[in-house]
Amino acid sequence: MLKYLVHALPLLLCLLFPGPAGAAAASPDLLDIRLSSVEADSRLKPTTFMLHVEMENVSGRTLRILKWRTPLAADIGAPIFEVKIDGTPAPYIGRLIKRSAPQDDDYLILEPGRTASAEVDLANLYDLGRTGLCTVEFSLSTLDIQDLAVQGKSGEAGDRPRKIRANLLSRYLAVPLQPPARSKTADFSGCSAWEQSVLTEALEAARDITRTARRDLANAPVDQRAQAERYLEWFGAYDPARYATVSDHFDKLEDALDNRQITFVCDCTDMYYAYVYPNLPYEIHPCQVFWNAPLTGTDSQAGTIVHETSHFQVVADTDDHVYGQSKCRRLADSYPALAIENADSHEYFAENTPALAMPDSTPEETEETQTPPVITPTARLQVVINALLLK
Ligand SMILES: [Zn+2]
Repeated sequence: MLKYLVHALPLLLCLLFPGPAGAAAASPDLLDIRLSSVEADSRLKPTTFMLHVEMENVSGRTLRILKWRTPLAADIGAPIFEVKIDGTPAPYIGRLIKRSAPQDDDYLILEPGRTASAEVDLANLYDLGRTGLCTVEFSLSTLDIQDLAVQGKSGEAGDRPRKIRANLLSRYLAVPLQPPARSKTADFSGCSAWEQSVLTEALEAARDITRTARRDLANAPVDQRAQAERYLEWFGAYDPARYATVSDHFDKLEDALDNRQITFVCDCTDMYYAYVYPNLPYEIHPCQVFWNAPLTGTDSQAGTIVHETSHFQVVADTDDHVYGQSKCRRLADSYPALAIENADSHEYFAENTPALAMPDSTPEETEETQTPPVITPTARLQVVINALLLK
């Protein structure tokens, strides 16, 4: 109520003392739009940029606001903010939604003096993967505001549409904010409802093991990679160039599974796990054996998806030099240069069954700080002995 009185005052003054520019020019804005940044918990690594937006009706009349181009929309579907880092626009990475005609609940009725507010995570909408001074601007066109006192007309009948601007918000980004992991849903061709549900779950599991594999490769301290048990098991003796190749493969595998449109084509009744055409990303044809494979673990559905995806030329362009765990172990021991281009070796590294350690592969931690090595020379020797026994 107090706010209403405060904001009604300029209008009152204006009526009492009409200025030379006339009532329209001197009238207060329809809305007072305020942006503020919500302080992140300083103990946590910042991954979000929470923005608090308030829109206060200062018109003295009831307004009907189309929510679509405001932060009040439940589903923001357009680049409604103008975000820059050190003066360069930050690319919009949110959804672009093509909508049909607005319904009643797409509007917000805002009584005079009332404030509507919302919080949005800017890191979900804009690529904030750079450090620097981040500025955020927001404005709402009067085309999106109806003044119910002037039936059917926009906020300022007779005037050209105009932008109501919020305050300029700036915040220094001391660390780049990772864009959210966004996973596409798979496309299906000729797959039954049951097959689709199996494949959806298998794709999710494939994403999980791929992310873990990529992160474990990246997080292993360089000086401990020569003792990285899991790497040595499937890709053989450590060599910086080969390790870089495998890391690159898993970067691309993760990108393919998380960001590309995977299409499952259920047209194969052969007794294979699955097949692909390497030059036709990202189409995977699951076959008979796939349906009876376990979801995770050795020769699983998740691992098969990793295997098949690695074959695509645009991913890792892998070959099938050998199949099966024991042959893959032997390939790693004798021909590491071939192991790093073998699809099953990638699958087994990702499946990690039986589980083998990678140094500093603590889940969720991405700190660069040194941790004590987890692999002792004795443990490495044990691995070698186990591998020999399996041959
Ligand atoms: Zn293959």
